[in-house]
Amino acid sequence: MTLPAFFAFAITAALVAAGAGAWIHTIGRKHIREHLAKSSTFHCLRCDSVYTSSESDLTAVCPKCGYKNTKLKF
Ligand SMILES: [Zn+2]
Repeated sequence: MTLPAFFAFAITAALVAAGAGAWIHTIGRKHIREHLAKSSTFHCLRCDSVYTSSESDLTAVCPKCGYKNTKLKF
């Protein structure tokens, strides 16, 4: 294997590894986001806003109007 071919192979391997790493990272983040959205998303019945809350209760107070809403079910 010549030196330019070796560098071309090394650069290609590095790009493929970086792409695979970014893809795996994206899949993991998407899974976390979907779990958070399904477990802590609320819709305000008074002002029609959608918000999230880190509270584990079934209800959360709307940050805009203060109305207490129940968790969305998917
Ligand atoms: Zn509201």
